[in-house]
Amino acid sequence: MTYTVTLIPGDGIGPELAAATVTVLEATGLQFDWQRVEAGEAQLKLVGTPLPDAVLDSIRSTGVALKGPITTPVGVGFRSVNVTLRQALDLYANLRPARSIKGVRTRYEDVDLVIVRENTEDLYAGIEHRVGADAAESIKIITRAASERICRFAFEYAVNNRRHKVTAVHKANIMKLSDGLFLESCRTVAAEYEGRIEFEDRIVDNMCMQLVQKPELYDVLVLPNLYGDIVSDLCAGLVGGLGVAPGANIGENAAVFEAVHGSAPKYAGKDIANPTALILSGALMLRHLGETDAAERVEQALRDVIGEGRTVPRDLGGTTGTRAFGEAVAQRVAAMPARR
Ligand code: NAD
Repeated sequence: MTYTVTLIPGDGIGPELAAATVTVLEATGLQFDWQRVEAGEAQLKLVGTPLPDAVLDSIRSTGVALKGPITTPVGVGFRSVNVTLRQALDLYANLRPARSIKGVRTRYEDVDLVIVRENTEDLYAGIEHRVGADAAESIKIITRAASERICRFAFEYAVNNRRHKVTAVHKANIMKLSDGLFLESCRTVAAEYEGRIEFEDRIVDNMCMQLVQKPELYDVLVLPNLYGDIVSDLCAGLVGGLGVAPGANIGENAAVFEAVHGSAPKYAGKDIANPTALILSGALMLRHLGETDAAERVEQALRDVIGEGRTVPRDLGGTTGTRAFGEAVAQRVAAMPARR
């Protein structure tokens, strides 16, 4: 079987990372038909928009995309390509696993968390206005439908990935109506999974302190948009930072897999950026496609290569370039026997 996947290399360090990731994914032995489409700064100059229709059309037809980071032009009136993609395709779930990698120096050795962030509403609905000259209001939207949908996603993820607990994170003690509705919706969904997946809730400030002190107490976290944005970065920090933080934006009809980090323009074209986060995002894509064995091989190969300490990207303290690192992981993947 051949998987048809939209490939958006992006800009800045994106094309180099995408090339390394494609090399690794193809080393699994799976067949891919990459539909390459361009978005970002170059397209803005060439066709007047950083997000040509061909990009959305391609993702709508393939249902799955691997995406490099895209620079958001500052002050030229264009919305972020990333935000537009998420809204246009209703990619309501932002999935960000945070798992320690042996050889990456951090405070903890065995963090294994999964952050599920609601991606469509909350303060990110972008409804804000000035109230006179010296005040401004931003409106926080929380609906039962979006809250139940994201919570169900978190529970289904837990069931399908052998996780045992979901923790809902909120500030319902202060925002009794909005966060209260989020928590109530999570409780409703949690009741459907009683006996199979544990459920608990935490107030977001307390959650941050506990994650820093005792990350091993937690498993899958589900959060409204703003807290999800912040807490997922905190969790990325627990496992080594941006270079190793994968992500996915998932909806009913499409899913876009991308690293958490941006386009790091100062490293563009220098073969020094770390492709780990995009490779791990590629592994999430394999899981989404049902290719669990191939995903596990990619993750294991990457862990082995970094853990051995000889082939390590610069941001993790080594000297290996983007391309050489991708090739080393690909060789290791190719040498691993497929279990099915
Ligand atoms: P950034 O993530 O690009 O960079 C932050 C820091 O991390 C920099 O020091 C950078 O050099 C380093 N870094 C990031 N990724 C790395 C990697 N793979 N290997 C080694 N070092 C890495 O964040 P920024 O500077 O705030 O943003 C740059 C541009 O990227 C902006 O235009 C922003 O809008 C955009 N951006 C895009 C996405 C996306 O496409 N999903 C996400 C975040 C930011």
